[in-house]
Amino acid sequence: MERTLKYDKNFIGIHSIMIIIISVYAIVARFYDKLNPSILLGLFIIIAFYVVNVLLYRIKYFNNIYVFYVIKLIQMLIVAVIMFEENRFLSNSAGILYVLTSLEVIIIFIHGGKRSRYNINWMLILPLVIASLYAFTFRVFDHEPLFLMIQCIIIIMGVYAIFFGSTEELKQQVYEQKNLWVQLKKKNVELKISSDQVLEVHHELLNQKAALEEANERLNRFTAEMYIQNELLSYISRALDIEELMKLVIDSIIGAIGVDTCSLVIYDANFDTYMCKVKSTHRQDYSKAFVEAVKSSKLEKYFSLGTPYIDNHVRKGAYDFMSGRDAGSLVIIPIMKEKSTYGLLIAEHESSRMFSENSIQFFGGIANQINIAITNANLYSKMEEMAKRDGLTGVHNRTYLQEVLDDLSKKAKQGLMNLSVALFDIDKFKNINDTYGHLFGDEVLKIIATITENYAKSKGGIVGRYGGEEFLLIFSDKTLEETREIMESIHKMIHEQTLYYNDKSISVNISTGISSYPEVCDDPEDLLHRADHAMYFSKTNGRGRITIDNIQL
Ligand code: GH3
Ligand code: MG
Ligand code: MG
Repeated sequence: MERTLKYDKNFIGIHSIMIIIISVYAIVARFYDKLNPSILLGLFIIIAFYVVNVLLYRIKYFNNIYVFYVIKLIQMLIVAVIMFEENRFLSNSAGILYVLTSLEVIIIFIHGGKRSRYNINWMLILPLVIASLYAFTFRVFDHEPLFLMIQCIIIIMGVYAIFFGSTEELKQQVYEQKNLWVQLKKKNVELKISSDQVLEVHHELLNQKAALEEANERLNRFTAEMYIQNELLSYISRALDIEELMKLVIDSIIGAIGVDTCSLVIYDANFDTYMCKVKSTHRQDYSKAFVEAVKSSKLEKYFSLGTPYIDNHVRKGAYDFMSGRDAGSLVIIPIMKEKSTYGLLIAEHESSRMFSENSIQFFGGIANQINIAITNANLYSKMEEMAKRDGLTGVHNRTYLQEVLDDLSKKAKQGLMNLSVALFDIDKFKNINDTYGHLFGDEVLKIIATITENYAKSKGGIVGRYGGEEFLLIFSDKTLEETREIMESIHKMIHEQTLYYNDKSISVNISTGISSYPEVCDDPEDLLHRADHAMYFSKTNGRGRITIDNIQL
């Protein structure tokens, strides 16, 4: 209704101009004395319509569109009746008012619903038809205004149809455009969301890529480290040669980690020497220079550091052990045992800033492996030595003696050397055990073994415990006579060794048998048997004596 009133206001405006013209006409007609009462009534009715329109507009047609329609229909009906008046001005004015009201109705219908648009046909024509019937029945029917009005109505309806059609089309277009715009806007929003999502995913992917690259780098490093650790571990488990271990360590570090030069120095306390190994990707061999540097104590201060040392910006000539080569970064890792450094692992790289906390961890791990390997190697050699020794006396055992004798026998048979053996047995040892106890007997065995080994060793001989209180001596470079002289001395030393048991002095004696290849025995493999035979002779012939093997025995 509000929209209807908006247009109605304009029509009242047009209507008021019409009223002014009509009023002017009334004044002019009065002047020419042509204003008869019926014209006056007609003009009055037209003016009255205007007043009614204004009043109804003011009270907004009771806010009801049907009141508006009904009023307009009545107005059109009355106007149509006036149209058949004889006075030309009156009938034309009524006609114009009819057209004006028709336009007003059409405008309102355009904005009404679809149903209201259908009502327009009868609304425009019906008053005209009723007025025509009225004029035809009660008055002199003049057909001109009727046909004139029909023409007007058809024109109005035609224009309306065109206007309405194009408006509909326009509305449709506007509607479609609006729809399109809404869809576009929606699409735009969707696209923006998608683009944001793509951007987010892109960022996520970039982050993931960076993380993957980092992980890959870590994995590669880890794999290289694992490879080295594995190599070392497998080496440690199968070989016990320190020289080989050192070579493997620096080969692995150069190959897998990609440093330019790797050096390893280990102090061997047994021989008070340094074992050195150097490997470099440079063409030159730095081994000799490195050994010289170690010998001239150029690495001394790093031995006393006790902690890893890193220099990521090495100045030219800053380290004299580097012997002329340039490096950008350097790491020195101590190899330690019980807080004392006995080795150094040194890695050099051409570029600066190559070593970090991780490098220390990695090289530290290798230093630990080296430590374990060296400890293992030492233990192994100790164990190997122990396997050759007799548990009580510490001299060689029978198994080892047999191995040595077999080995030397072969060499002697090839004519490479003389071979003499002496076998002795402690006389009446059972008595010592029985008299002073088994523990004292053990002590006697140890003393006799030590005296014998010390002396025989000094003469280049090998000593071992062959049985309970029997000892075997092997001389690979002595003649029969030389062996006899050595045994004479041993006899003397043992016999002169005073043993004390609770302030009681005791002395022991031994019985010895000697055989020698090729002087008295023609087969080295027969030597032991022959010496035993000779010893038996000593036993059965007074004890405490030396018997030299000969054919008569
Ligand atoms: P003979 O002069 O004829 O050699 O007399 P013997 O008593 O030495 O000889 P016998 O073979 O009768 O006794 C050897 C003794 O050596 C017997 C054994 O108890 C003792 N014996 C062997 N091995 C050990 C040992 O490791 N410790 C001690 N305490 N005694 C041992
Ligand atoms: Mg004996
Ligand atoms: Mg015996």
